[in-house]
Amino acid sequence: MSFQTAARETLQDSQLRRNIGKATTLIRAKRERAVAELPDWEALRDAGEAIKARTMATLPEQLERLEAAVTHAGGIVHWARDGAEANAIVAQIARANGADEVIKVKSLATDEIGMNEALEASGIHALETDLAELIVQLTPGDKQSHILVPAIHRNRAEIRTLFEHTIAKGQQLGNEASAIAEAARVHLRAKFLSVPVAVSGANFAIADTGAIGVVESEGNGRMCLTLPRVLVTLMGIEKVLPAWQDLEVFLQLLPRSSTAERMNPYTSLWTGVREGDGPREFHLVLLDNGRTDVLADEVGRQALHCIRCSACLNVCPVYERTGGHAYGSVYPGPIGAVLSPQLTGVADNASLPYASSLCGACFDACPVKIDIPSILVHLRNQAPHPRTEAAVMRAAAATMARPKLYARAQRAAKAARIAGRRGRGLPPPLNGWTASRDLPEPPQQTFRDWWRGR
Ligand code: SF4
Repeated sequence: MSFQTAARETLQDSQLRRNIGKATTLIRAKRERAVAELPDWEALRDAGEAIKARTMATLPEQLERLEAAVTHAGGIVHWARDGAEANAIVAQIARANGADEVIKVKSLATDEIGMNEALEASGIHALETDLAELIVQLTPGDKQSHILVPAIHRNRAEIRTLFEHTIAKGQQLGNEASAIAEAARVHLRAKFLSVPVAVSGANFAIADTGAIGVVESEGNGRMCLTLPRVLVTLMGIEKVLPAWQDLEVFLQLLPRSSTAERMNPYTSLWTGVREGDGPREFHLVLLDNGRTDVLADEVGRQALHCIRCSACLNVCPVYERTGGHAYGSVYPGPIGAVLSPQLTGVADNASLPYASSLCGACFDACPVKIDIPSILVHLRNQAPHPRTEAAVMRAAAATMARPKLYARAQRAAKAARIAGRRGRGLPPPLNGWTASRDLPEPPQQTFRDWWRGR
């Protein structure tokens, strides 16, 4: 389904629009305050952009350094060309450890490759431990609608009712957020202590040392990363950073841009395995799944700089009205509109580059200065165009290439303006273009007329 068709449906849901409008307005205001506290915010953005550009320019070398460092620290590195390979690796590790259930830290990369469904097909249940992910998982047919707040489309009353029908059956949870969260905490605690295999994503991986980093707010991540016997981390290859010092920049940019915090409540960093401390076995799965194709595109490759903070979603006027489901991708909002078509091929997601007003708010908000509007225009040029549009453009080009014909067309447009005051739109089949836009009126006097008059 195209973005435009899906958006038409979600725009009818006034509760969803209220929930998302309220949440994004709140997060936007908090983020602005958190960013304003730092006098060197723009310098930090420059540094983030430069580190990412340098990393992408040397990606094969950084990944090989990372592999060597993780292996040296006792970890096992796997390379996965696509989602099917990655899912097979994780299922094989779970089976080898006798697990019919794994606990998960919130991870967009695992959502991208449909890992939960693939593990389920292998008889392994993947339990989400992030509160919002759990809410989505417990709701039949529901999907994430925001990078950072996957259940942003649900309000407190809806979540309370959901829990009372699932993990807290028979209980009256009341309206306090703490009581509702407690129901989830009790449900998850037993799993943290008993399930032998955990699966996580990664925010960063340091090529120098082999350290992997996950930042989160709830502590569920820390539990998953430290308590189970086996830890599997699935990471998109673009998440690598060359040096430990690079974290200094990103650990300032990410929390302020995402949750508007000075630092994340939980920043977990681990390097391989260590006797008597944390998991006994650590696997790092490096996922390509279309990323090397993105890297080959000189304009589009900026999308790989993304640190998944979601600031661009929260400022986007389109996202605020349609919500994330309309994008039909695990990466919604402006970053989804440029990343998803590149990962799957523009033809498969041809409507997404048009899911934007090109206002530029996403560019201004992005902590690593990804020029999303330019990538959108670049992708629009690659998307298949409707035949009528191509025919109109060809006719316009032919007219503009012939000065006499162009002058006649201008006179005709002027005559049409005088004769056709009744409506401001174009006739069919071009009326779709003017359904939501005013047709610019031709000027009273053309440049040629003005020139002749002098
Ligand atoms: S594109 Fe920029 S603002 Fe959007 S999620 Fe990625 S890093 Fe954040």
